[in-house]
Amino acid sequence: MLVLLNDNYYHLRPFKGFKMSRLSLNILIIISFLALVACSAEPSGRESAGLNTISLQSAPDQGASQSEITEINGPVIVYSSRQEHLIKPLFDRFTAETGIKVQYQTGEEGPLIARLQAEGEQTFADILYTVDAGNLWSAAEKGLLAPIDSEILEHNIPDHLQDPLNRWFGLSVRARTIVYSTERVNPAELSSYTALANPQWQGRLCLRTSRKVYNMSLVATMIERLGETETQEVVEGWVSNLATRVFSGDAQLIEAIAAGQCDVGLVNTYYLGQLQAQNPDIPVALFWANQNSSGVHVNISGAGVTTYAKNRAGAVQLIEWLSTAEPQYLFSDLNLEFPANPDVSPVDLVASWGDYKQDTLNVEAAGRLQADAVMLMDRADYR
Ligand code: FE
Repeated sequence: MLVLLNDNYYHLRPFKGFKMSRLSLNILIIISFLALVACSAEPSGRESAGLNTISLQSAPDQGASQSEITEINGPVIVYSSRQEHLIKPLFDRFTAETGIKVQYQTGEEGPLIARLQAEGEQTFADILYTVDAGNLWSAAEKGLLAPIDSEILEHNIPDHLQDPLNRWFGLSVRARTIVYSTERVNPAELSSYTALANPQWQGRLCLRTSRKVYNMSLVATMIERLGETETQEVVEGWVSNLATRVFSGDAQLIEAIAAGQCDVGLVNTYYLGQLQAQNPDIPVALFWANQNSSGVHVNISGAGVTTYAKNRAGAVQLIEWLSTAEPQYLFSDLNLEFPANPDVSPVDLVASWGDYKQDTLNVEAAGRLQADAVMLMDRADYR
């Protein structure tokens, strides 16, 4: 199976119905392949052809031959924008429990989605697993994901964290909220995303670049909640309150608050968790925004089954399994995120931030309004 995969990765051909010249398609595939290799820190050898394998740890039937096992329980192949250390422990556990192998390719979401699109029906990917509803929405809009009809997923994953057309499901929750200096800010001064535009925060606010999808999604949901005019006023207020130029990462932003460069900012909570795990005394704390109104902006990591999946049954089984208690806890353990399944509690560090009200607006708004959010942030001079 793996040999076949490797061969085909080097001999990808245009497929029927794809309106693109053979030369352009080959160039696109080469570009997306190079981008993937550049983005994923994977070892050489077999993996350099594109896929990592998690070995079969317990065969379902000791009497079955290898070829029978492959036929009954062929591997599930995942294209993942999540890093290997965040997915491998989960896939290992799944393989140990079910006997189904998982192979995966990691890379940046843009090149992964472009690759899936270029491969069309020739793709080996059964699952696309990525972060941010905006990315999943865009893959679904390109026709790359097929709906899943699953009682298990409908039961385990709340409605606002799944595609209304069931082409993708959230598997972990990422909350984007306010962080503040415990030395210079009284949390009683804080309330909402909108209030960070007030003159009170002049020269005290830090933001990550508007080019990061997390901020596109936050502003997209603000457009849905508040409308364009009010959202633009808020974003302009943020920009006028900036203490310094925008950061390329959330962790740098938190460190800037700790260092005294600014007093408040907006981040995904797991970045604070990672820094707190290294330094429990870091003088930065988290504040749950919008608790008296719409709730904290949440986004997801999530997955969908590809339109041309060769192992659709195995793919659905893996996504369903990921929505159950043990893997849901592991998401929180591995990356300090919140379980998407509300019946599962997160790890202690994450639980220590306290309960909060989530915005229950469907996260698909992050994709649907992404282009509007980008244009709005541009008009507001948010770089
Ligand atoms: Fe992140």
